[in-house]
Amino acid sequence: MIAADEVNGKILYQDTDHMFIWLGADPESASGVVQTNQYLIIDKGRGVLLDPGGIHLFARVVAVASRYIALDKIDAIFFSHQDPNVSSGIALWLGVTSAKIYVSSLWLRFLPHFGIVDQSRMVGIEEFGNTFKFGSGALLRFLPAHFLHSTGNYSAFDERSGILFSGDIGAAVFPAGKEQLFIDDFTAALPFIEPFHKRYMASNKVTSLWVRQVRELKPRLIAAQHGGVYRGDAVSAFLDWLGKLTCGIDTIESIYK
Ligand code: FE
Repeated sequence: MIAADEVNGKILYQDTDHMFIWLGADPESASGVVQTNQYLIIDKGRGVLLDPGGIHLFARVVAVASRYIALDKIDAIFFSHQDPNVSSGIALWLGVTSAKIYVSSLWLRFLPHFGIVDQSRMVGIEEFGNTFKFGSGALLRFLPAHFLHSTGNYSAFDERSGILFSGDIGAAVFPAGKEQLFIDDFTAALPFIEPFHKRYMASNKVTSLWVRQVRELKPRLIAAQHGGVYRGDAVSAFLDWLGKLTCGIDTIESIYK
């Protein structure tokens, strides 16, 4: 269960200049909607939002984020991919912040279908480059995560906190009432992780490439957009499992049976 004092967010990392914050639980997760997580990085008083979510979450995410930072100090919003649960709030976010949106170039012409979007505030990561620099000099690294599951897809590694935001990778779908913020025991959580990855992730070729680059970063925590935040031994246990997973087109005969 998500503890009562965690509903309005939890600081996952903090030093004098830099914070990485989980923005709390979606109360609808209790009614069978997949639990979604939003995250906020604050560096030198300026904010970056990670996958702030769809329209129905907007009011709650605004309320929780505002406890930590004024909305006009949010400079950037990162979307791992184009799914509505990640990005359908885009027009609302552009309205209440002056942030730029960082997303794979593949989705620049699709996201405006979620509302009126000023294209001059959209930044394609392929053209921008793979690092975003915070005021302190710390780096947010955009990591290719294409085909996991989206065609144009990125993870984001916050070097200073050692936290990897993995988007849909590592997503867990916990039964109602069993939601948890941290995943400590990977084996116990696996039944809630495996079905999604076997069907949505493109193939072992891609999962193993992603795992290889993530291992080099040695993340302290892996924070997914659905489900929980991997910590301790669960980080390497998850990477070991994902690197060997057969999924997607590896199992195409069973999908087309
Ligand atoms: Fe998705």
